Amino acid sequence: MNPSPYLARHEEFKQRRLNLNMMRGIPAKAQLELSRGLLTCLGDDDYLSEAGADCRSYGILDGLPEMKRIFADILELTPGEIIVSGNSSLALMFDNVASNMSRGVREDLPWAAQGHVKFLCPSPGYDRHFTVCDYFHIEMIPVKMTDTGPDMDEVERLTASDPLIKGIWCVPVFSNPTGIVYSDETVRRFANLKPAAHDFRIYWDNAYVIHQFAGGKRAIPNIVRECEKAGNPHMPMVFSSFSKVSFPGAAVSCIASSTENCEYIKRRLTAQTIGPDKLRQLMHVRFFGGAEGVYQHMQKHADILRPKFALVEEALRRELSGLEGCDWTAPEGGYFVSFNTPEGCAKRAAALCSEAGVSFTPAGATYPGGKDPKDRNIRIAPTFPSLEELRTAMEVFCNAVLLAAAQ
Ligand code: PLP
Repeated sequence: MNPSPYLARHEEFKQRRLNLNMMRGIPAKAQLELSRGLLTCLGDDDYLSEAGADCRSYGILDGLPEMKRIFADILELTPGEIIVSGNSSLALMFDNVASNMSRGVREDLPWAAQGHVKFLCPSPGYDRHFTVCDYFHIEMIPVKMTDTGPDMDEVERLTASDPLIKGIWCVPVFSNPTGIVYSDETVRRFANLKPAAHDFRIYWDNAYVIHQFAGGKRAIPNIVRECEKAGNPHMPMVFSSFSKVSFPGAAVSCIASSTENCEYIKRRLTAQTIGPDKLRQLMHVRFFGGAEGVYQHMQKHADILRPKFALVEEALRRELSGLEGCDWTAPEGGYFVSFNTPEGCAKRAAALCSEAGVSFTPAGATYPGGKDPKDRNIRIAPTFPSLEELRTAMEVFCNAVLLAAAQ
């Protein structure tokens, strides 16, 4: 392959002094505008919960019951299995890991006191999950991702063999970054795990549970119910948030698990805070009304996102389908497309994009420790730029991949 034409095009892009950011999965301004009414939906005298609690004040540690009901409907759980919290589900995941490391799972021996803690990390995966492990010096064991979820033979083998493997990160619906949805069999195999660690936890990050481009919810078996049936009722810790529904910086999040686990978490909360931001929760209740209102709202997000994902797919197919050794996902929801360059080309392709003024999540970030063993994976986040910007960014990207491969 002769690099000259790609190099010439790359130089042309550089002359244009582009400045495009494709790094993180951020909603576009038009998506934020969909929730503008959230800012004004509470009138001057609208601050009482349905039970008459003053939402301006302290209290109601586990969240407003009416906000719990919305999460419960979406996650198909009972309100008693839900704790509604602040603006970030990632903060809840971090805190849960911190709690288990230092205080243990349900009054058990702290993870950190048992030895060198390890987590399974399906890869490619969400870089910030890996950052949480990194922060606590938890060893990350990569597990291959397949089209139906993590390689379950590996997950079963590893969890059964090592009592210091305490957790696994999962994004079961429209996974970050591959966009795949776990198969029914994968979910059931998760529920039926027989970990050597009696205090093993599945971190079930349901960030994209209602983010299907065709609307509605992508149904997969309910992990909490499946774990109950399998005799593992306390194993799953489910997380979700409205970050990609309303405002990523000012939404609401939740943690869901068995009622016993929720009771245990509430005890920690009692020491942590005198109450969450219930005004924010009340705004969400007023603005959306209920789960049905949320699904209708998500249709509007989908209308904005669908053409962007279609544009990415068209560009990749047009420019790169002839390039041997590369492949990519075509997700039906979520926020990302996962792209694999020919072996050994991802870092170079991302660097070329950056030279041309288009920044991607650093190549390798989708693997624990930033180490993509074959240097292939790049996460494409098409949501933030306008269609016009995205078209340009994809031209730069495809040319960079071709140039890296040719070089
Ligand atoms: N989980 C996944 C899989 C994500 O992709 C993201 C954001 O991109 C988050 C969690 C962050 O969620 P939150 O804003 O609720 O902390």
